[in-house]
Amino acid sequence: MGYVDLHLHTTASDGVMSPSEIVRYAKAKGLQAISITDHDTIGGLEEGLAEGERIGFEVIPGIEISAEHSPGSMHLLGYFFNIHDPTLNERLKYLQRAREERNPKMVEKLNELGVDITYEEVLRASGGGQVGRPHFAQVLIEKRYVRNFQEAFERYLKKGAPAYVDKFRFTPRDAIHFITEARGVAVLGHPNTLGLNGYIELENLILNLLKEGLKGIEAHYPEHSSSEVAQFKALAERHGLILTGGTDYHGIEKESVDVGVGRGEMKLPYSLVETLKAVRNQFVQSH
Ligand SMILES: [Zn+2]
Ligand SMILES: [Zn+2]
Repeated sequence: MGYVDLHLHTTASDGVMSPSEIVRYAKAKGLQAISITDHDTIGGLEEGLAEGERIGFEVIPGIEISAEHSPGSMHLLGYFFNIHDPTLNERLKYLQRAREERNPKMVEKLNELGVDITYEEVLRASGGGQVGRPHFAQVLIEKRYVRNFQEAFERYLKKGAPAYVDKFRFTPRDAIHFITEARGVAVLGHPNTLGLNGYIELENLILNLLKEGLKGIEAHYPEHSSSEVAQFKALAERHGLILTGGTDYHGIEKESVDVGVGRGEMKLPYSLVETLKAVRNQFVQSH
């Protein structure tokens, strides 16, 4: 049994490798399966799935949806959904349009702050895929306004920073519903970014999401400490949720993280995929 990585970004959102490249790369690294989980888009899936088929490597359809939440951020992962589901596609198109409206506003704010940046430069940095804040960061670094990604986010781009513009997000309920209705498995991504205070707050949130159809927690994640992983495992066990994991590899901003390899020797066994499939099957039968 080999290893897997269930959280990867490609050029369809803000990753560096194209979907085919990341599939070939994962196979060359000796992994057994991956999922491509771009932000708010399934634009890379057709290519990634086709490449997987061509070279005989398992690629699981995935997505990472930003949902409405405060104080931190909530990312919901979806796996194994039907990529041709009309409702899912229509919802994602709506998100796409919302992003297209937001990005020029961020350029305006940066200009007001005295930063000489154009939307064309940001578009160029995105390489033709979906435009996100990391592409803004890339231009800010190239033009020497900041030294690195961290500084770009701290000074300009993070939530609450002067160039930040909020974007439309679906509620967690809506996101879980359209993943589920497309016969996908909805998973709470990296719970440590939720900004919650301790076990009880997280458990309350999970209880609410369970009612909507949440099936799992992304417990294994490079930024999770071992005590956090233990906490997420305990919560999952208590509420009958499965565990998933991945590196959230983008290929740009993180050191010591690579496809299939997280910090602290994080390695994810194929059994995670088997559990995910078991849930998907159960659930497809019951619908
Ligand atoms: Zn995320
Ligand atoms: Zn991600």
